[in-house]
Amino acid sequence: MTPSVSSPRVGTNGDDSANNSTRMLALLHLSGGSATRAELTAQLGCGRSAAGYALTELVGRGLVRIDDRPGARSGTGPGRPSHLVEVAPSSPVALSVHLRVDTLDVAVVELGGRVLRVEREPVEARPDVASIFLRIGRLLRMLGREAGRPVAGVGVSMPSPVRSEDGYALQPRHLEWTGVPARDLVREGLDAAWPVHVGNDANLAALAEHRHGAGQGARQLLYVTTEHIGIGGALVTEGSVFGGARGYAMEVGHTSADPDGPRCSCGSRGCLELVADTRALMRAAYLPDTPVTGIGYRARVLMEAAERGDPTALAAVDEVATRLGVGLAGLVNLLDPDRIVLGGLLAKLLALGRTRITTELRERSFLERAVPVPVEVAALDSGALLGAAELALEPVLQARGEWSEASAAS
Ligand SMILES: [Zn+2]
Repeated sequence: MTPSVSSPRVGTNGDDSANNSTRMLALLHLSGGSATRAELTAQLGCGRSAAGYALTELVGRGLVRIDDRPGARSGTGPGRPSHLVEVAPSSPVALSVHLRVDTLDVAVVELGGRVLRVEREPVEARPDVASIFLRIGRLLRMLGREAGRPVAGVGVSMPSPVRSEDGYALQPRHLEWTGVPARDLVREGLDAAWPVHVGNDANLAALAEHRHGAGQGARQLLYVTTEHIGIGGALVTEGSVFGGARGYAMEVGHTSADPDGPRCSCGSRGCLELVADTRALMRAAYLPDTPVTGIGYRARVLMEAAERGDPTALAAVDEVATRLGVGLAGLVNLLDPDRIVLGGLLAKLLALGRTRITTELRERSFLERAVPVPVEVAALDSGALLGAAELALEPVLQARGEWSEASAAS
């Protein structure tokens, strides 16, 4: 879905002043929106005067501010204290949408991945397409109006593979929708010419983890998550989301775990998501796996029971962790990741069933036995929401022509 998105260019040194300000902004963004001047200068590696020019340019464009009040100075070891550089309150924000099977979140996010405001509404079972996009439009118009900041664009996270060329959501199966032209429908609900970007939820969460969370610094980040039901996956390779030919790649949940298993909503049988998602965990504990609404909460209650040592809950965790480990082993053999990050319910499963998961990985993947891959818990609570914001903030970060302070202010 987002093959054109790559991590901000921060890795190359040089004295190209046109690039220094772009790189400095990227460094600030990846540092959570604030860093000392000394830290930014050291990471840029271009000398103090060139860094000073870059900073002056960013301040002049209203993107960053320097907090030089005495109390704001931050000591960085020996030498003079260094002023704090922060994202400016005049800088553009992203409006971000995360649609799940039971909730709709719309947020305002600024550079640095800081969520300034979130509005959450419940989503009913089998929601009507038109009414959901009407609600998205209403919330976006309200948040854009009340943000009091230039809006760089809108990023939308969909529980579906998303075609990269036009933001078409191929099949949001868990909403029981067929394909929807998500980008066009969001655009129709706006009263401003904000650019709209749409991506798959797992891909966006992976992008956010790579930039701001547990995936920072990984060369081949394999991310696997469950958003209440189903399993999503993504690969961030050398800073870019791997999208395949059309943007649909990495449907990890629909790799086959049992060829003769139960029928999946995708048309296949025995898919990984049927045996290792939230519903599978409920069934393994002899609990109902319907309705979908509220299943995330019920799964958390079950996990808490496992933490307290409840034998049925522990056996369910062990069973699902084993299946997840089997699935991950195949993915390690295919993708050669240097880090695996698990999100959502799978992160909780890792906390309780790490030994089972890593045992399956080791026994079933000879690559894993050669070079063990660290398996970590996702660090971000709202990864997909942040990842959607990354899409909208990308033109600001890359200083591309389609976004300018002038156009955003109009
Ligand atoms: Zn399937």
